[in-house]
Amino acid sequence: MKEISAGGIVFKRDGDDLRIMIIEDRYMKASLPKGKVEAGETLIETALREIKEETGIDGKIIEPLEVIHYQYYDPVRGEVNKEVHYFLVEAESGTLSAQLEEINSVAWYTPGAAWKKLKQGYENNYSVVKKAFDRLNIAVGDI
Ligand code: ATP
Repeated sequence: MKEISAGGIVFKRDGDDLRIMIIEDRYMKASLPKGKVEAGETLIETALREIKEETGIDGKIIEPLEVIHYQYYDPVRGEVNKEVHYFLVEAESGTLSAQLEEINSVAWYTPGAAWKKLKQGYENNYSVVKKAFDRLNIAVGDI
């Protein structure tokens, strides 16, 4: 079966400082906030809703970044073909707070620290981060 989710690389600006949001998902991996598309919703609506639900942050879409694909096995549904649409999202308001039913934790990181974290997560997120950093003119050593 096929499953479609949307989410984002969320950044915030604090004067000259830029911070990147990283979550730890339910599987103990560093990743990006995302969630499943609901009936009647656009991918942009899904991404912003899931970011808000999982992390407490209201954001605005800057641009689409990438669509990634992976497969996983679900004991009930069998093989799941997953498609995740990622957007670059700027945080606008809200208070950072992890929704513990969906994720283990969430925090803001400097770009360098965010990249280090994500390198311990899923490989297919790397190019999403690279695109976001390019768009934001962020240079990180070994990216
Ligand atoms: P959603 O956040 O879209 O509602 P979910 O929490 O139900 O999704 P996934 O995050 O897709 O489900 O996780 C299902 C399985 O896929 C888990 O084993 C997880 O470790 C794995 N997984 C999650 N993200 C990725 C990824 N980017 N690449 C490969 N495997 C992943």
